[in-house]
Amino acid sequence: MMKKHNFSAGPCILPQEVLQKASEAIVNFNGLDLSLIEISHRSADFVAVMEKAKDLALELLDLKDKGYSALFLQGGASLEFLMVPYNVLPIGGKSAYINTGTWSSKAIKEAKLLGEVVEIASSKDSNFNYIPKDYNIPDDVTYVHCTSNNTIFGTQMKEFPITDKLLVCDMSSDIFSRKLDFSQFDLIYAGAQKNMGPAGTTLVIVKDSILGKTGRQIPSMLDYQIHIDKESMYNTPAVFPVYVSMLTLEWLKNLGGVEAVEKLNDAKANLLYNEIDSNPLFKGVAKKEDRSNMNVTFVLTDDSKKQRFDELWKAAGISGINGHRSVGGYRASIYNAMPIESIQVLVDAMQAI
Ligand SMILES: *Cc1c(COP(=O)(O)O)cnc(C)c1O
Repeated sequence: MMKKHNFSAGPCILPQEVLQKASEAIVNFNGLDLSLIEISHRSADFVAVMEKAKDLALELLDLKDKGYSALFLQGGASLEFLMVPYNVLPIGGKSAYINTGTWSSKAIKEAKLLGEVVEIASSKDSNFNYIPKDYNIPDDVTYVHCTSNNTIFGTQMKEFPITDKLLVCDMSSDIFSRKLDFSQFDLIYAGAQKNMGPAGTTLVIVKDSILGKTGRQIPSMLDYQIHIDKESMYNTPAVFPVYVSMLTLEWLKNLGGVEAVEKLNDAKANLLYNEIDSNPLFKGVAKKEDRSNMNVTFVLTDDSKKQRFDELWKAAGISGINGHRSVGGYRASIYNAMPIESIQVLVDAMQAI
């Protein structure tokens, strides 16, 4: 089978060997003569999967034995927009949000249901094509929320707020893609389907000591502490997405972890951005210093070339590079599992116009 070059923003490309192992487990898991998706989530075989997935997540972020819990929940990153304030915002409390795009805006909308939100910075004035860096954090907020990578607009935070408040980050589209001091964050969440696995599970990494301080009654399914106590099995977990995430994290560890993949990701992004900057037919959307290494947004400078370019990349076996409707143009999502060879195919198509 000749696979397409998959630049989809999400659900995303996954390593071929992961897909192979996952498909085998669907038919016969661990030699049990049963499918992974037809056994109890409380069976020893699946409990081991969940444990390993959590363990690998903490290990790859260098947060093991540092007072953090890893959870695999459901409801997507979108449910975390609500769960975050539910679990850390005291009744009558305030929070601060940096608005860098559609996802930040949605996070703000949910947080407003539970308390006052101060939008301390926003790049909405220029369709979110940069990361605002000038802001003051009010003294009376409990936490500061940011979005590390803006999947739709193609911007990425390189620096994070330095603050004595809790720091919360939506890392849905760049988790495990680069080395950061992850201990600067008190709470990290990420929908699996951008850079970790299939849709259906969400990774939450939370510092244990920040919980239990809100004075709120938290519905069970929204309560991080309950999910921690029940080891992500308060209800039936999304067994298949958790398993595939585990395989992907294992693949990443074997590759050398986030430090190794960051080097590959930098080389991939440089190859594509160099073409965008040197080819007069293309122009990048995001401000240069804020460009994302995961989602590369660009437009044609001459619209009359659109049909020709679209024919070229389709003929080259490329899939999923149409831009989001709110930005237009093109978006090449080049997540961890994307090989540099596929980016070269795209660059070749850009040069062939
Ligand atoms: C895709 C995305 C989300 C939403 O994720 P769901 O799992 O679909 O809820 C949130 N934040 C960012 C940065 C995303 O890219």
